[in-house]
Amino acid sequence: MIQCEGLVKIYKAADLEVFALQGLDMNVEAGELMAIIGNSGSGKSTLLNMLGGLDRPTAGSLTVNGKNMLKMSERDLVSYKRESVGFVWQNNARNLIPYLTALENVELPILLQGRRKRMRALELLEAVGLTHRKNNKLHQLSGGEQQRVAIAIALANEPKLLLADEPTGSLDSRMADQVLDLFRELNRTIGITIVIVTHDPLLAKKVDRVVAIRDGKISSEMLRRKSYAEELEELERGIAAEEE
Ligand code: ADP
Ligand code: MG
Repeated sequence: MIQCEGLVKIYKAADLEVFALQGLDMNVEAGELMAIIGNSGSGKSTLLNMLGGLDRPTAGSLTVNGKNMLKMSERDLVSYKRESVGFVWQNNARNLIPYLTALENVELPILLQGRRKRMRALELLEAVGLTHRKNNKLHQLSGGEQQRVAIAIALANEPKLLLADEPTGSLDSRMADQVLDLFRELNRTIGITIVIVTHDPLLAKKVDRVVAIRDGKISSEMLRRKSYAEELEELERGIAAEEE
């Protein structure tokens, strides 16, 4: 789906240059659930923003669906991020409206964006397991539930790629687990490709592939023996066999 080769990103601030990515090589396969881990300042968010077309690399090559992002027109870049990518952040809750219900929070951006292709708000809430909370005001929901609302909104456009930057950063470990379970579920049921940036190694253990980044380069990579989806399928086959 995405290939990065020798990816470089330099931020220029006043007379200072920050080398955020320093020749990074990485691929994202369609349908995978992967995590990018690394210390603060290692370039995780920078990389995620490049993958989502929020910002352009300075040099190297970043190919998305066969197109090089460095050469892509502004118009193509805008349609790529609007149509193909969903974003989830650490503090999504800040972009949600506390005195509207969960359902209204999902309906609002859909209406505002007037998206052609879109899932209806109720279906989206169902997809994130929040049907029972649809009429609750947002401020009545837990942090984890609010994050689910944000994920529902990110899915409205039926993106092929979901990018999540520290999506559990402000949640306790139990809620973080639930949000991660939701990512796994979505990856499995709708086949969406998901890239999660996190500095939590425990969270990273639960995805199919982990890529570690250090000083703007990939420092190591770990692949699970089996994908989580495969493990779940095996488990389900086992249960079905027992029932027979
Ligand atoms: P991480 O998400 O891993 O914490 P970032 O990608 O945010 O790392 O940052 C990588 C480096 O780039 C850091 O040194 C950071 O200070 C710098 N940086 C990030 N964004 C900008 C920006 N907009 N302007 C200047 N420097 C930036
Ligand atoms: Mg970051």
